[in-house]
Amino acid sequence: MIRKVTLIPADLSDTTSLLEAVTVTQPHEIYNLAAQSFVGSSFDQPLFTTEVDGSGATRFLEIIRHLDKNIKYYQASTSELYGATTKVPQDENTPFMPNSPYAAAKLYSFHMTRMYRRAYGLFTCNGILFNHESPLRGLEFVTRKITNSVAKIKLGLQKELSLGNLHTKRDWGFAPEFVRVMWLMMQHHHPDDYVVATGETHTVKEFTEEAFAAAGLNWKDFVKTDPRLQRPLDVTHLCGNAKKAEQVLGWKPEVTFKRLVQIMVHADLDRWQRYQRGEVFPWDAPNYSHEMDIISRTVSREGRAAPTGIRGLLERLRIR
Ligand code: GDP
Repeated sequence: MIRKVTLIPADLSDTTSLLEAVTVTQPHEIYNLAAQSFVGSSFDQPLFTTEVDGSGATRFLEIIRHLDKNIKYYQASTSELYGATTKVPQDENTPFMPNSPYAAAKLYSFHMTRMYRRAYGLFTCNGILFNHESPLRGLEFVTRKITNSVAKIKLGLQKELSLGNLHTKRDWGFAPEFVRVMWLMMQHHHPDDYVVATGETHTVKEFTEEAFAAAGLNWKDFVKTDPRLQRPLDVTHLCGNAKKAEQVLGWKPEVTFKRLVQIMVHADLDRWQRYQRGEVFPWDAPNYSHEMDIISRTVSREGRAAPTGIRGLLERLRIR
């Protein structure tokens, strides 16, 4: 088997580990997608978020500046930068108005990335990516939280789903298509900043409706709202205009909103069905504590109650 990926541990808050990773690999391109990426947690961990999402980018830029100015650098910037803006749709000229510690940290790394391009002539790009989803999305994000719950409700493993604000609007795209445009930016002869989005916007409620419908269920029978899941400040309406990426890079998204929801619901249904058949496979849900509870409460194939907690998981994975 060809080894396509080599993993090297590094930490954005630790300059030495980044220096080591860059020295060892001698890369042509660096894609900095690492972050404390959950907006909700950034309100609880503002300083950690600043350290990783803000200063982390500067550490990379400094390493490139001192070590090898030919290394190209991609910075994962974000539609969250637009925050409280009332301008819709948002493009590369829309003023940023961050509305969370996450967005404030990302605003700093956005400007540093652009500044190093202008000040030192580095090849640096900011991809201002709007929300991009896939079956690999973390369970803390609303899309995957919904599709994972839909699958469990369909299979009788969960009774209801609690959500926060159902009225915020997001421009949700399909992550694999967005990764392609990151690469396209880095192959262009001229480094620049680009908005990447579908141009279509939907409420959290619409996503919920569509996800339950994809499993043949009515969302109204299962969803309740919980004010504790609302944020101190939220971003109400994101909708991107990706004309520049289309004109300069020839990029256009193809997966529609409806198709995206179906892909995610079907993937989660498939995973939970495999779990119910007793299959053990690499899967993220067991890493989340609330999922562990469900997993350990489920009666095993042999008809006995499965051992609980970590022990149960280790037994299922045949690790003793
Ligand atoms: P974000 O756009 O990076 O913040 O992505 P999220 O998926 O975390 O949140 C998208 C929107 O869904 C935000 O406006 C949240 O306030 C809203 N939302 C409503 N209920 C929930 C929930 O239960 N979990 C999360 N993560 N977001 C929720």
